[in-house]
Amino acid sequence: MSKEGKVFRSRLYEVDPAKGVIRLKNRVCPRCGRVMAYHKQPIPRWHCGYCSYTEIVRS
Ligand SMILES: [Zn+2]
Repeated sequence: MSKEGKVFRSRLYEVDPAKGVIRLKNRVCPRCGRVMAYHKQPIPRWHCGYCSYTEIVRS
């Protein structure tokens, strides 16, 4: 089970070895602290399914 946990955790991060940057793929909701989901349609945004907090992604 610990092995699966590691795999799952690594999916949450995106590592860029060239820049030495680790980005969090899934954001944590600032309102309730849960992991937010990313949606591309109709507009790119992060959405929390628990408290309905939505953050629009600007590109
Ligand atoms: Zn939330």
